[in-house]
Amino acid sequence: MIIARDYEYMCSKSGQEIIKKDIKDLKLNKIVVAACSPHMHEHTFRACCASEGLKCVEIANIREQCSWVHTARKEATEKAKALVRSAVFRVALLEPLSASKRAVVPRALVLGGGIAGITASLELANMGFHVYLVEKSTSIGGHMAQLDKTFPTLDCSACILTPKMSEIEHNENIELFTNAEVEHVEGSVGDFTARIRVRSRFVSATKCRGCISECAEHCPVEVESEFDVGKGKRKAIFIAFPQAVPLVATIDPRKCIGCRLCELACEFEAVDFYEKDKVFDVNVGAIIVATGFKLFDARKEPKYGYGKFKEVLTALEFERLSNASGPTGGKIIVNGREPKRVVFISCVGSRRRSDLIALVYAACI
Ligand code: SF4
Repeated sequence: MIIARDYEYMCSKSGQEIIKKDIKDLKLNKIVVAACSPHMHEHTFRACCASEGLKCVEIANIREQCSWVHTARKEATEKAKALVRSAVFRVALLEPLSASKRAVVPRALVLGGGIAGITASLELANMGFHVYLVEKSTSIGGHMAQLDKTFPTLDCSACILTPKMSEIEHNENIELFTNAEVEHVEGSVGDFTARIRVRSRFVSATKCRGCISECAEHCPVEVESEFDVGKGKRKAIFIAFPQAVPLVATIDPRKCIGCRLCELACEFEAVDFYEKDKVFDVNVGAIIVATGFKLFDARKEPKYGYGKFKEVLTALEFERLSNASGPTGGKIIVNGREPKRVVFISCVGSRRRSDLIALVYAACI
């Protein structure tokens, strides 16, 4: 039996009674409610159907995501029909779930070693949970380590961040994986298995003293520093910044020419060209994704001249130049000159339709 009903206030008590009566009289086993956002009344309809022993309920949101956002009546109606059609197809595939209880693995995986990942890791670890913190780059710290001052108090960014970074290193509930990425995750809520690949640094973490002086001095390869967003230089063997955690040098295999001068220069014999990637499987109950942000590529908005004129900088480049520990020691020098006046253009790219669509799409999948 298939039945369609129209009622103005289906979420009201009388509306719910109609649903309950139909479930009972017509022996319905699946329900589609085409109404407002599930955020608003999903619980109401689920509870109403559950009281009659029916668990398969699907909501088509034809209000907030349809009639309220589309001014053209015809398009809104077509979209509403499509949403209802999708919900009907979906509900046909639903199987009732039964509740079960399982123990949750009392460990967490945190992806991203910026300030969000650091804070999440410390809070979990201080509650007694074991944490695996995975950071893609060679040090934790993220974008906050690149900043000079923080808004709105103008506190020194490093003064807030570096004690937390060192706490991460010394907290016995936290296992830190830097220069690492998660390759694969399987399982479900409460019980995941994740595979972490730690890329080789070609420098022994136990032997390196983090002095970087001799090895980097002898390295003939100089490249743009990622940490200084191209406004400073680093060598092929490098430590991203002086407060890095862990304070261990890394050889960049994409830039190294294999001259081995660093190996000869290191008195601690820390350089190890035979070091291999390491792979770990960890079992966790929760995964926190704190992977931060990427700057918009301002070259996509050519009217501002970014990439064409050296005087046009991104906010992060400006930050590195104005930072006392930055490549110019806090002196803002662009194209060999100190600027007298500066114009700030906010939110460049934030209203680009193509990027917004890509963003919405990424958020939906
Ligand atoms: Fe630099 Fe590579 Fe030569 Fe070492 S082996 S000094 S990292 S270029």
